[in-house]
Amino acid sequence: MSQAQTNPIVELANVHLAFGSTEVLKGIDLTVARGQTVSIIGPSGSGKSTILRCINALVAPQTGHITVNGMRVDQMRNEAERIKLRQKIGIVFQQYNLFPHLSVLDNITIAPIRILGVDRAEAERHARDLLARVRLSEKAQMFPGQLSGGQQQRVAIARALAMRPDLVLFDEVTSALDPETVGEVLAVIRDLVKEGMTSILVTHEMRFAEEISDVVVFTENGLIVDQGSPEDIFQKSTNARIRRFVNGLA
Ligand code: ADP
Ligand code: MG
Repeated sequence: MSQAQTNPIVELANVHLAFGSTEVLKGIDLTVARGQTVSIIGPSGSGKSTILRCINALVAPQTGHITVNGMRVDQMRNEAERIKLRQKIGIVFQQYNLFPHLSVLDNITIAPIRILGVDRAEAERHARDLLARVRLSEKAQMFPGQLSGGQQQRVAIARALAMRPDLVLFDEVTSALDPETVGEVLAVIRDLVKEGMTSILVTHEMRFAEEISDVVVFTENGLIVDQGSPEDIFQKSTNARIRRFVNGLA
């Protein structure tokens, strides 16, 4: 039996979600094992971000089951439960949304101090470790506006890790960056994945997804069209739609 079957951290079963009369997810089944890296690829509007938002309890499906980290997300009825869930899920978006008036160090320590009650010295020690991991040790006292997009995104990753998450969600984190800074952000994600951080990435970086993923999921129009190993999806797929997409043709 595979890891995914024995030790899942995320399980979506037959998830249906509509905004008004618009069906956005039409029966999603997805399992992610602890330690796995899963990439979700597919055309714009296919429901990729909505899947991540379901996992993080930012939207609720109309039907289906969602279990994350042992919690039944689809049955959550109050905000306290959702906050508890989100404390163990790091999330990094296309727009890094750092606090502009706080230093890099304070951006990273604010949540552990305020939400987890970690003392400042310990939070700063951890933040400096994280800054070293994202290769920004020398920027601790700078403000976000003084950094490049790629550097800000690496701070956003360090901020997500500061909560010691069990799972990190990345939603097109390089899509808004200048091409020359994309590589430095991907390098940081690659390191994290190698260290065994469970990660779900929505990405348009096809070569990167092929390189680092255990499982690649192709979505279109609210459905998972296929999922499998990088080789299954990028090299061996016989689905014409997938072949066009992964070859950059549509
Ligand atoms: P992707 O991330 O694959 O580009 P999304 O998950 O963001 O796709 O969106 C899937 C579909 O759901 C799109 O058609 C989008 O317009 C629609 N959608 C997303 N969020 C909302 C919302 N809050 N209200 C209405 N429609 C939405
Ligand atoms: Mg999206």
